[in-house]
Amino acid sequence: MRHDDLKPFHHALKILENKCTGCVHCMRVCPTDAIRIFSGKAHVDQNRCVDCGECLNACPMNAIVVEQDDFNKIFSFEIRALLVPAMLIGQFPEDIVESQILTALHELGFTHIFEVETVVPFLNEIYIDYQEKTNKKPLISSFCPAIVRLIQVRFPSLVGNITELKAPLDIAALYVRNLLERKKRKKDKDKNVGVFYVTPYKIVRK
Ligand code: SF4
Ligand code: SF4
Repeated sequence: MRHDDLKPFHHALKILENKCTGCVHCMRVCPTDAIRIFSGKAHVDQNRCVDCGECLNACPMNAIVVEQDDFNKIFSFEIRALLVPAMLIGQFPEDIVESQILTALHELGFTHIFEVETVVPFLNEIYIDYQEKTNKKPLISSFCPAIVRLIQVRFPSLVGNITELKAPLDIAALYVRNLLERKKRKKDKDKNVGVFYVTPYKIVRK
């Protein structure tokens, strides 16, 4: 996988023109100068946007929204695994404990829940092996798509330092899928497995 070409990228953030007042708050916080105001409305240069979400939190008019898939799509899989990063748990207030959060996720419809960090030892081995083979230093993880895009757009001289391995999240998803496929009971052998990721992103509405 190479990162020196800007591949077509699906941007999840959209600006609602009917709500936008052209106040430029979003433009001021954008790390890649991707936003310009034309005819009193904000417009995003899709080639420069890295999907960091800074503009979303800065907009006082709630004019920036995140496009979402239909959640019910998860039910097209009979075995539904969710990868949860530990930092998601830390985003909840102290009086909400981990078991409550996991119970809520199960109640939403996920049949299995895994902490992403459980595959870290497995990932470490892959990374050490990769670094020894390529002698690439410093090695930049491709974990966060926004960081990869930011390097492509703002710091192209560092593109060669991004690991060409699959993103750790993709490796974790493959690991979990293989694990579940191997552990399937005989009666479940025809059930399809879907692996999903929950993104820890805090929306600060003003
Ligand atoms: S998501 Fe980030 S990069 Fe994209 S327009 Fe908003 S602030 Fe700029
Ligand atoms: S911060 Fe919101 S209202 Fe202001 S220009 Fe940006 S999108 Fe429009």
